[in-house]
Amino acid sequence: MAVKILIAGAGIGGLTAALCLQKAGYRVQVFEQAPKLEAVGAGVQLGANAMAVLDYLGLACQLKPFCVVPESINFCAFDSGAVLYKMGLGSLYQQRYGAPYAHIHRADLHAVLRDNFHGELRLGAEVTAYREHRGGVVLKLANGEALEGDLLIAADGIHSGLRAQLLGQSEPQWSGAVAWRATLPATDLPPQWLPLQSTNFVGPGKHMVVYPLRNRELVNFVGIVEKPSAEEFSWAASAPWQELKADFAGWHPLVQALIDALPREACSRWVLCDHKPVAGWSHQRVTLLGDAAHAALPFMASGAAMAIEDARVLQRALQQSLSIADALQCYQRNRIARTAKVQRLSRRAGHLYHIRWGWLQRQVFRSLGLLTRPTEDFLPRYNANTVELI
Ligand code: FAD
Repeated sequence: MAVKILIAGAGIGGLTAALCLQKAGYRVQVFEQAPKLEAVGAGVQLGANAMAVLDYLGLACQLKPFCVVPESINFCAFDSGAVLYKMGLGSLYQQRYGAPYAHIHRADLHAVLRDNFHGELRLGAEVTAYREHRGGVVLKLANGEALEGDLLIAADGIHSGLRAQLLGQSEPQWSGAVAWRATLPATDLPPQWLPLQSTNFVGPGKHMVVYPLRNRELVNFVGIVEKPSAEEFSWAASAPWQELKADFAGWHPLVQALIDALPREACSRWVLCDHKPVAGWSHQRVTLLGDAAHAALPFMASGAAMAIEDARVLQRALQQSLSIADALQCYQRNRIARTAKVQRLSRRAGHLYHIRWGWLQRQVFRSLGLLTRPTEDFLPRYNANTVELI
C-alpha cells in the first residue's frame, strides 16, 4: 500500500509539499486549523529557485497571468529620494537563472496550489500533538480524533506547536521591528508614482517596500519600523493608519503621497520574529518544513521560497531513500546549512537597510552590487530539482 503522509498546515509550504508528494504517488492528507482557506498577507516575491519548483509541478502557466516580473528593484534614500542602487532583474535575470523573479499575490499562489491538490484537505482541523511508534505516527486533532500515518510533516508556521513538541520549547525571537502591510488598487496610486517601479526606500531604523501585483492592478506596501519593544503589539492585527503615518513622518514626499493613498481602515501591523537556526528538525517519522523549521526575517524575501525548496528536496529524499527515517535525515542534511544562511543573512540585511548615518548608508548602497552579489547569487542559483543530494 502507498505510504500515507500527513501534513499539518496548508500554507505555501504545506501545500507545495502536498503537491510534490502527490506527484510522486504518495497518499497525502492535509490538516489546516483555519475554517476557511485564505492566504494571510498580500504580496510575495519569488526568485528563480522557487519558480523552478513551481515549474516542476506544472504550475508555471497557471501562475503566469497573476505574476508581475519587475525590470529592477530601486533602492532610494528616505530623504532625498535619490536612487542609491538599482538591482537589475527582468529578462537578464531570467536568462542567467533559467526562471523569472516574480511578484505574486499570496491569495493567487495559494489558490493555484490548492486547486491542483487532489488529496484530502481538512479545514478547521487543528493539530495539537503527535505520537511516534515503531510502524508509524499518530496525529492528534483538537476535536479528539487520532489519525494514523507513516510520516508527519509539520508545516504549521513560525508559531508551530509541533515544533515545540519536537524540539522542546523554542519560541520565535523578536527582531526589534514591526511590519506594516497594506494594498491599494493601482488606480488609487498618487500621480507622482506612475508608472510604478518596484521601489524600496531605506532610512535610519526603517525601510519601505512597494511593488505592483496581479497584472499591475494592485500595489503592495510593506513598511518596516524598528521599535523598542513588542509588548504593546499583537502578533498580526489591523492597526490605525495614523500610527503608520507617524512612523514615516519626515520621509520623502513620494512616501507621504503613497501613505496618504493607502486605505485607512485596512492597514495591518505584524510583529517580526524569526528562529535561531537549529541543528536538527527530524525524528524517525516526523519532520518540520518551512517557517516551522527555519523562520527567517523577510529582508531577503525568501521564507516562502525556502519552504518551496524544502518541499521538493523532501520529496526527492523520500524517493531515493530506503526508509522514512533515512529520508528525513537526508532532507535535513541537505536543507539546514542553506536555510540557516538565509536566516543569518536576513538579519544582516535588516541592519544594512536601517543604517543610522545617511552618508554611510549611501556609501553602502552605492557599493551594494559588489557587497551582495556573491551572497545573493546563492539564492537563485540553487535548483531543488537538480541539486545533488548528499
Ligand atoms: P505559514 O504560511 O505560516 O503557514 C502555516 C499554516 O499552518 C497556516 O495556514 C496555519 O493556519 C496552519 N497552522 C498553524 N498551526 C496549525 C495547527 N496546529 N494545526 C493545523 N494547521 C495549523 N517570503 C518570500 O519567499 N518572499 C517574500 O517576498 C516574503 N515577504 C514577506 C513579507 C513579510 C512582511 C513577512 C512577514 C514574510 C514574508 N515572507 C516572504 C516569508 C513567508 O511569508 C513565509 O516564510 C511563508 O509564508 C512560510 O510558509 P509556511 O507554509 O511555512 O507557513
